[in-house]
Amino acid sequence: MEENRMTEVPFLSNVGLMLTYKCTVACPHCIVKAGPNRKEEMLLESAFKWLDQIKSYRNGIVFGLSLTGGEPFYNLPHLISISDHAHEKGFIVSVVSNAYWASSKEEALRILTLCRSIQMISISADFQHQLMIPFANVKNAIWAAKKLGKLYNIAVATENESSPEYLSLMDDLLEITDAEFINTSIIVPVGRAEKGIDHALLKYSPEPAVAACSMASFPVIFPNGNVIACIGPPITLPEFSPMFLGNLYKEKINDIFDRAENNYVLHAIRAFGPRVLVKMLKDHGYDHLVPEKYIDEAICDVCFQLFSKKEICEVIQTLIENDADFRLKTEYGRLYYFNESEMIKSDVAPSDN
Ligand code: SF4
Repeated sequence: MEENRMTEVPFLSNVGLMLTYKCTVACPHCIVKAGPNRKEEMLLESAFKWLDQIKSYRNGIVFGLSLTGGEPFYNLPHLISISDHAHEKGFIVSVVSNAYWASSKEEALRILTLCRSIQMISISADFQHQLMIPFANVKNAIWAAKKLGKLYNIAVATENESSPEYLSLMDDLLEITDAEFINTSIIVPVGRAEKGIDHALLKYSPEPAVAACSMASFPVIFPNGNVIACIGPPITLPEFSPMFLGNLYKEKINDIFDRAENNYVLHAIRAFGPRVLVKMLKDHGYDHLVPEKYIDEAICDVCFQLFSKKEICEVIQTLIENDADFRLKTEYGRLYYFNESEMIKSDVAPSDN
């Protein structure tokens, strides 16, 4: 396993609530296929109960709460109730939005003022969104966030960072904010994006992306109670995926999070990136299960390709159960990169190879 030192991101320091599949628009690249015709929303009573459980978990190690969708502002009273409850519980609350509601500076200010418990807003702005939502809304939302002293960033998704549409959008964004507030991710053809995006724009590589994944530290809870280890493409996968952590209508958060503490797949991805799973498969002679190509620079594509096949998930689990060295490296990877000793069970150090 190669070293790739990264900023420390404590496991379970932040949890997401996916409030709704409803959205004002139906973007062609939406993983969860959100849209105006979707009906599923998280019940208020469930959200409150789960937030209380999360806050009690291990004396409050979870301190951040991200509200996402769909479009969380679609049901504003719902968003305000949940964010107020979370804030009263002591969470730092953030929200992801397409800014459809920021039709003018005044309106953006009015809406964000109502959301007094939300401290940070992440605005989705990309070529696909801006076909349906004026770019001025993004500007208005940022203006209002700054005016109210809320933190903000801009989340951009693209098939290709060289595409003219992406470069043009970045020019527009850099006129209203600094590069440090813009996060770009590569679209993976999952959900509506499977058919909705221009596949010709995707760049492929025979090797998996090398980065480790900080997002695997932050599980997300869905309206049906499912708890998934990250907000990436595995949110669309069945229960056989190792990213599926449990269901809150069947178990309590303590049981689900305690089990996640010992999920070797998850922590190997956090410490080393999903490519170590590809390497493990190859090292044990499972080359025929390994994907032929990967989307360039898209670590989520590595996870999705591996975990969307039940056979690969089962082989990975079996290999980990029988590979003490992999387990040890993962345990010490957590210790080295994140200062987390939760998995260390013995004082045997891992070998170098
Ligand atoms: S790299 Fe894997 S674990 Fe991380 S966000 Fe993407 S799909 Fe999830």
